[in-house]
Amino acid sequence: MEIDSRSLNRVEGLEEFIDLIKRARTDISHEALKKVSQFIQRSGCNKISFTELGRRAAGFSKPGECLLNLIVLNFPIEYFMYIVLHEISHQYQYQKYGCDYMLDVYSSTTDLQKATDKLLFAEKVADRFALIKTHEILGQKEIIPRYLNLTDSTHIKNYISSIRIEASDRKAKSIDEINEAIFFLLKNE
Ligand SMILES: [Zn+2]
Repeated sequence: MEIDSRSLNRVEGLEEFIDLIKRARTDISHEALKKVSQFIQRSGCNKISFTELGRRAAGFSKPGECLLNLIVLNFPIEYFMYIVLHEISHQYQYQKYGCDYMLDVYSSTTDLQKATDKLLFAEKVADRFALIKTHEILGQKEIIPRYLNLTDSTHIKNYISSIRIEASDRKAKSIDEINEAIFFLLKNE
């Protein structure tokens, strides 16, 4: 594949991010990591890192920044790849739909069912994108199970509600303030 170097973004932390994967995962080829790296650089992501998150959060994508839970480095190869690419897919979405899409999901003025549908749609698109890309990058892997439960909208609804409560307690209004609330919840649950 021909890569136009002008379309590749400088991403803060990318070198350390890839280095950490190289050290932790000898089962992932350099060729695969190069593809992951280019995928990140084209996504609109400005900053990426591994960090400690709560046990239920695999990663977190906010406009311009991706955080991956350190624990995913120990996951099976296709699961690990899927999670990284899923979070990066959200970066493409922020580029395409803008931040207002997610602001609308978490805003208390949006009908909860409508917000749930919007978030489910974004998750399904990221899921599909990540699965295709995982398959493409790992090549030989035939079976990639689905890891997200995207049929249980009650779960998504409860998730949105908990974020709305935290955001309201903090009087968070902007997408940055709301993302701080989300990060707090993901880190402490
Ligand atoms: Zn997601």
